[in-house]
Amino acid sequence: MKVFKFGGASINSIERIENVAAIIQSFSGQKLLIIISAMGKTTNALEKVAEAFFAGNKETALQLFHEIKKEHLTILAQLNPAATNILNDLFTEVEWLLHDKPVRQYDYYYDQIVCCGELLSTAIVSNYLNSIDIKNNWIDVRDIVRTDDNFREAVVDWNFTQQKIQEDIVPVFTATSIILTQGFIGATDENESTTLGREGSDYTAAIFANMLDAESQTIWKDVEGVMNADPKLFADAQFIAALSYTEVIEMAYYGAQVIHPKTIKPLQNKSIPLHVRCFLNPASPGTIISNLPVHHLPPVIVLKTNQVLMQFNSKDFSFVEDMLVNKLHQLFVEIKIRPNLSQNGAIRLYCCLDNWPEKIEKLALAASELFDVQVEKDVVLLTIRHYTEAIVAELTVNKTELLSQKTKETLQILLKNN
Ligand code: ASP
Ligand code: MG
Repeated sequence: MKVFKFGGASINSIERIENVAAIIQSFSGQKLLIIISAMGKTTNALEKVAEAFFAGNKETALQLFHEIKKEHLTILAQLNPAATNILNDLFTEVEWLLHDKPVRQYDYYYDQIVCCGELLSTAIVSNYLNSIDIKNNWIDVRDIVRTDDNFREAVVDWNFTQQKIQEDIVPVFTATSIILTQGFIGATDENESTTLGREGSDYTAAIFANMLDAESQTIWKDVEGVMNADPKLFADAQFIAALSYTEVIEMAYYGAQVIHPKTIKPLQNKSIPLHVRCFLNPASPGTIISNLPVHHLPPVIVLKTNQVLMQFNSKDFSFVEDMLVNKLHQLFVEIKIRPNLSQNGAIRLYCCLDNWPEKIEKLALAASELFDVQVEKDVVLLTIRHYTEAIVAELTVNKTELLSQKTKETLQILLKNN
């Protein structure tokens, strides 16, 4: 059994959906559990619906949702002119909610609305595949993946989900070769929809791979495989044919947009290899990520833009002791923000964080009870694994270094443009 995950870009047009079908067809006879993201930029569009709804702009929310609906219906009709009202229940689920008034927290509504992107895309692709005789079963993953109610960053109940997979997924594979389902979403024990964090489909795929003891997982993307830097930012980015789990978990941790950071653990724990392949060039083997150590990697570069540097200074020249540090960490947990880098000194702490304006403001305000707080915006966090002097010089030219940290393998520098 193999687990496949196709990202949103792989199904953003009729031709691309046909291409995905051809890839699936080329594995005929094999058991596949396939996870497909929301089409194209649907998740972003649904976020706008949730924002409008929560701001009390019901008409705007309904109008924006209507656009999404139209796009999906058009694609469905083009792929399978004989298709009936297979999307109606999914639309109604959201529209019914949009007619309400928001009385709960934003994150709850976000999840109830945003989750429909993957439900719609998978329903359409499943219907199309069946219509061209690639028989498959569509499953609503919310019946399988149980989570807590930490909306937008829900935590998976591992035991319950494992049991559901045994009861409801394994038997389906005796009758069918292909199961098509969603990533990124789940549900609570009260049947509320949840999401696992943006780009969470890779992670869901890894959960299935782990629990089904898959022989491999493949993430189909629009790039050749994993590169040593974001090719959109670095024209000379290099393709890497093989990586270890350790390297990839480090890359993801530092913010490389390759694979969702939680994806590696479920695979590593069962030594399941992860392939990153290109849906535009299925003949190419892509990158393989496994237990095998890989030597002589090129410098791996991760650039995190839109960062803020916060300085927490002791108010009265007393040392910043453990108790104060702990209190600050409690604030991070409460506000749900995590520093990307921190450095402690005698009378001050530095933290570099993603610039989420509301969270930063909240944090600055709460922390000002304990410290004199300074905030510097528009900084960039550069991480280089396997750094060399030459690459550091090249990437820091004409920039001011605000602070840096290094181990034998990893260098992190906080930079500001001159
Ligand atoms: N559709 C979701 C997103 O765009 C989840 C995913 O694609 O992994 O974040
Ligand atoms: Mg995606």
